[in-house]
Amino acid sequence: MLNNKNKLTPILNQIMQRNVGEKEFHQAVHEVLGSLSPVITRHPEYADDALIERLCEPERQIIFRIPWIDDNGQVCVNRGFRVQFNSALGPCKGGLRFHPSVNLGIIKFLGFEQIFKNALTGMPLGGGKGGADFDPRGRSAREIMRFCQSFMSELHRHIGEYTDVPAGDIGVGGREIGYMFGQFKRLTNRYETGVITGKDLLHGGSHARTEATGYGAVYFFERMLATRGHSLEGQRAIVSGSGNVAIYTIQKLISLGVKVIACSDSNGFIVDEAGIDIDLVRKIKEQHRSRISEYAKLKGSSVKYVADRSIWDVPCTIAIPSATQNELTDDDARTLVKNGLIALGEGANMPCTPEAVHIFQEAGVLFAPGKAVNAGGVATSALEMQQNASRERWTFEETENNLSKIMHNIHDLCYETAEKYDMPGNYISGANIAGFIRVAEAMQALGVV
Ligand code: GLU
Repeated sequence: MLNNKNKLTPILNQIMQRNVGEKEFHQAVHEVLGSLSPVITRHPEYADDALIERLCEPERQIIFRIPWIDDNGQVCVNRGFRVQFNSALGPCKGGLRFHPSVNLGIIKFLGFEQIFKNALTGMPLGGGKGGADFDPRGRSAREIMRFCQSFMSELHRHIGEYTDVPAGDIGVGGREIGYMFGQFKRLTNRYETGVITGKDLLHGGSHARTEATGYGAVYFFERMLATRGHSLEGQRAIVSGSGNVAIYTIQKLISLGVKVIACSDSNGFIVDEAGIDIDLVRKIKEQHRSRISEYAKLKGSSVKYVADRSIWDVPCTIAIPSATQNELTDDDARTLVKNGLIALGEGANMPCTPEAVHIFQEAGVLFAPGKAVNAGGVATSALEMQQNASRERWTFEETENNLSKIMHNIHDLCYETAEKYDMPGNYISGANIAGFIRVAEAMQALGVV
């Protein structure tokens, strides 16, 4: 074990030196490589031919200019990214994020995570990610459309059903996917539905894709709780965020008898002790594209809106952070443990800092990483691709059924892999090792490419 740790250390050092300043990427690589020494001990062949070094270097990275014109006639310039990280298991697959924080390091962290997440789904998907440092907040629908068109004017030459298939992420939902698909179609003169997922039902989208990440997270969570004899019914939950992942996580939790008492946006959070009214949250966020503080205004004094504290100060038994990376710190983790948290599943990608994760593990809290918990979104994207390829449309129930089976399989694969490698209950190691093994075998079988 020690030897293999030593073997991985120089690789890790080289990655840090070669990717200066990309701190989220470093964090993600540390987390995955930190799990791999037991597997390299048992299977030294997985590290042959510089496999780990190849795995940590994207196949291709595209950075491009996005000029567009705002409603005042001003020319604006943003920076676009697409990182095609690994295509050993299938075409690169992963979302597009539009957020002012986007930079190469963030896209690489997300693309790297996506490789293992996609491998865990068991579907034929490689890993990739993209986006732009564009802030959609306060932009009109016309501005969003012009931006998406300019973004796709460059991206279209790099993607394709057999190459790389984008989808949504933070700041990119059904509306943006529609604008981008429209521009792709215009530029290529091809109605190639399999080139992008998260499409509207009218353009070859899949039932349950919108709900998939949130519903999938709950299916995973339910199964994880059962390993310790707990059930969802009667739990008191906090789900941070109020975007696509949070909304459908909350909706599913409520339908299974959970009381969800708090959610948030980047300005603050609401606490509704009567249980969140998810239809109202949806109306505020999906229809009005407004702030979560509206919820408190509309509900009156029974609801608290808090802008100057952490949502994780509110006591709960289960937590699903579903906002963004590193939103939950070591202080938050200590507070949650003190307040009686029994389980946490990451709905967002890497929402807990490494220090917070360590505290949960020391305290014996059930903990599952984003690459397993939130894989239902990309898994349903794969179902959308399947329907596009066969020109079929499955019912909502059929699609959701498939999703729940995939999530249960992911859970069991992580759980069993952790047991097999003598780390029972450690879903981080289970997810990293199981995902790695699939990718490593696929890469080795393709030769040095
Ligand atoms: N952005 C989502 C994720 O983080 C979905 C990606 C996709 O459907 O391709 O997994």
